[in-house]
Amino acid sequence: MNSVLERPPGLNDQALSGQIDLHCHSTASDGILSPAALVSRAKCQGVSLLALTDHDTVAGVNEAILAGHGDDLAVIPGVEFTACWGKRVVHIVGLNFDHESTEILSAVTLRDKLREERAEIIAEKLEKRGFHGALAGAQALAEGAVIGRPHFARWMVDAGHVDSMARAFKRYLGAGKVGDVSVEWPQLDDTIRSIRAAGGSAILAHPLKYGLTRTRLLALLMDFAAAGGQAVEVVCGQQNPVQTREILSLLERVSVEGWDLRASLGSDFHQPDQPWRELGGVRLPAGVEPVWNLWQTGAKQNSN
Ligand code: AMP
Ligand code: MN
Ligand code: MN
Ligand code: MN
Repeated sequence: MNSVLERPPGLNDQALSGQIDLHCHSTASDGILSPAALVSRAKCQGVSLLALTDHDTVAGVNEAILAGHGDDLAVIPGVEFTACWGKRVVHIVGLNFDHESTEILSAVTLRDKLREERAEIIAEKLEKRGFHGALAGAQALAEGAVIGRPHFARWMVDAGHVDSMARAFKRYLGAGKVGDVSVEWPQLDDTIRSIRAAGGSAILAHPLKYGLTRTRLLALLMDFAAAGGQAVEVVCGQQNPVQTREILSLLERVSVEGWDLRASLGSDFHQPDQPWRELGGVRLPAGVEPVWNLWQTGAKQNSN
């Protein structure tokens, strides 16, 4: 495991003092914009530091970094890994790692296989409900990218089966519905290990989106910190101040137990017509220790 994190190329004081967005998606997973188009939009939105964090893939990272070259926008490698905490699915964002390392590539390959198998099962279940051609439809929309439930949702809209993606999730693909196929994703600790072995920082994504009670969420945060997790998304996508305060109070509680978790943030941008999660549209509250402090001196690296 790397004990010192280097500054990524292009990551300078200017990038760190501007608008930061460390969570977004491109066509490499379930986003609508190509990595280059995403970077260009981020520039227009005034973003100074961007991490592309596609679901379970780093396929878009090189294109994004290249698109950011020579501009006032620094792009760092990222990923949003799907993982299991016990039987629960959680999302772990990895940032600022060597995206060509074997640790990251094998974590990606493993999930790619799981996603392909899951897509076949989802399609079979939808076929049984009378939705014919679901697999071919979703695959055509994914265009070789990592396939996910949003591709099925989009296909259902295009085929006229439902009037919106939200409806597709509500009826067929969301929690507890027919297309919510359970998968044994790699466990939380393995996932954190892969990210850190590649020199990166591990961040728990959108902690309030797992439907956990405060007690269970606290247990998740403690397990996450004990396994080498370094930060939590204090702000992700659309979030109200009460929710932000809730996360901050959980972090304080974790710190009383002796674990330091830093703060990260991101829009979770997927597509242009969703102003509530526009690129660069998030701010960290005052008084938190940002995750990027880990990347500035190396000496501040979490020792766990
Ligand atoms: P997957 O990674 O294939 O399990 O799909 C999860 C993705 O589906 C999330 O990252 C979201 O982009 C999307 N998603 C989840 N719930 C909804 C919803 N209710 N409406 C639209 N998209 C959703
Ligand atoms: Mn998504
Ligand atoms: Mn997520
Ligand atoms: Mn996301």
